[in-house]
Amino acid sequence: MNEERRDESGRHTQVDRRTVLRATALTAGGVVLGGMMGISTPGGAFAAARPKVYTRSDWGARNPKNKIDVLGRAPTHIVVHHTATANASDVSASHAAALSRAIQRHHMDSNGWSDIGQQLTISRGGHIMEGRDQTLRAVGAGHHVVGAHTANHNGHTLGIENEGTYDSASPPRTLMDSLTDTCAWLCLVYRLEPDKAIVGHRDFNTTGCPGDRLYALLPRLRKNVGKRVQEQLRHLSAVAGTQLSLEELPTYPAVPQAERAAVFYHGPTLGGRDASP
Ligand SMILES: [Zn+2]
Repeated sequence: MNEERRDESGRHTQVDRRTVLRATALTAGGVVLGGMMGISTPGGAFAAARPKVYTRSDWGARNPKNKIDVLGRAPTHIVVHHTATANASDVSASHAAALSRAIQRHHMDSNGWSDIGQQLTISRGGHIMEGRDQTLRAVGAGHHVVGAHTANHNGHTLGIENEGTYDSASPPRTLMDSLTDTCAWLCLVYRLEPDKAIVGHRDFNTTGCPGDRLYALLPRLRKNVGKRVQEQLRHLSAVAGTQLSLEELPTYPAVPQAERAAVFYHGPTLGGRDASP
């Protein structure tokens, strides 16, 4: 969608909303909005919207067995999961890295998948780790890496695995803060409305994931992410000289149910409508 505006010299210029929003979320990569839009920006670039994300090489990921599918479009939803592992007390980055390696080993060697299933993992210490191969590059380009985390919906959903089991325990503040940062970054990059885009695994599949306690925190998460997104939009609107908003997206089905418990098992991850994992 384009919007007409006048620049300082009175000429009409076209402001592409997608370009504006993409640029905001990409500033961590050094993209300067003014350069892309032909308008001046105070300070040249915005504050980085992307939180620190440890790369696959940081945590010692194995290479994927097969080429990972990357779709040239944005996902429609961010799916919140729990890892169905212990509520560990180790908050170090090295523990987070070891968790990512353990999940990748399970997904590749036990499940026979090409790679770790989810696109992002967050530890109880709040460390954010890249998951499936190509994820950071794809997010930066507004594209979607097809994962294996939500059955029949992997073609349009990005999965975040949050360390722990939250059926009766609540997730720590450090984890929720990082989850908020991550969702705000993703909503800006992909132009997703937090109220509609942020869902739990149980909203799509028959599963208890992400646990009653974490699931109950999703309304607050959506609200906090929404505040962040609006702050960024206000900032952008002031700079661009036009009122910007995120576009409407379709709503999602709600299918909450219960399930069995096992380490790393948090519900259906693949279905007949998904590509090869
Ligand atoms: Zn799940």
